[in-house]
Amino acid sequence: MNATAAVAAAVVPAAGRGERLGPGAPKALRELGGVPLLVHAVRALARSRAVGLVVVAAPADGVAEVVGLLDSHGLDGKDVRVVAGGATRQESVRLGLAAIPADVEIVLVHDAARPLVPVEVVDAVAAAVRAGAEAVVPAVPLADTVKRVEPNRGGPEPVLDTPDRATLRAVQTPQGFRRETLAEVHEKALTEEAAGGLPPVTDDAGLVERFGGRVVVVPGHEEAFKVTRPLDLVLAEAVLARRRASDGY
Ligand code: C5P
Repeated sequence: MNATAAVAAAVVPAAGRGERLGPGAPKALRELGGVPLLVHAVRALARSRAVGLVVVAAPADGVAEVVGLLDSHGLDGKDVRVVAGGATRQESVRLGLAAIPADVEIVLVHDAARPLVPVEVVDAVAAAVRAGAEAVVPAVPLADTVKRVEPNRGGPEPVLDTPDRATLRAVQTPQGFRRETLAEVHEKALTEEAAGGLPPVTDDAGLVERFGGRVVVVPGHEEAFKVTRPLDLVLAEAVLARRRASDGY
């Protein structure tokens, strides 16, 4: 791997509406400590020396707004580009990936909705790909016991079984990939979709698994949680306030 190839590029899918957070701006543009979630997420990636380029997939009708936002916040001199995202997260990632120069061999995919991921997690994921893994996900053990149910919205849901919690992990981002692997599985998913095949997956590593690739887990971090519901924003504000008070973050 030459020097350019060893530096990763990151794709940030940020084109979702985030309706579970309640009405208002697209989720990536909601503010945390006065700064949009997306800007926090891009900064978190830019802070890593392993990352040389960040490509943001913005809402298709919000590209100019996102470019303006990123321009108005300091981003450590990193190369940040914005492309129009798609109708699904999977499509947004595919469009972001297409904007990465051909000589980049390591690609990270990071949700805009995970604004507080520590740089150590970004570094560890990139390092694991550099060390030879084709797909790497950061994850944490589960606090809750998990049951599989037969879904029945609003009514009682029969329990099917209880997986052994010790074997379960809650998966975070950034997820890291050999670029070739990620491009290949997205291409295959597109072909399948066109043939009326399987539904989109909720993370990129899921695509690698679907097509028989090997995914490994490295330790994630509790502060890399996803801002999905209103309570998550309250928690994120508290984490940010503590960081600002303790290390001028
Ligand atoms: O909806 P969810 O929280 O799973 O979205 C995960 C990430 O995917 C978010 O950062 C969201 O902005 C992004 N996304 C996207 N394009 C879509 C839907 C979601 O980039 N069409």
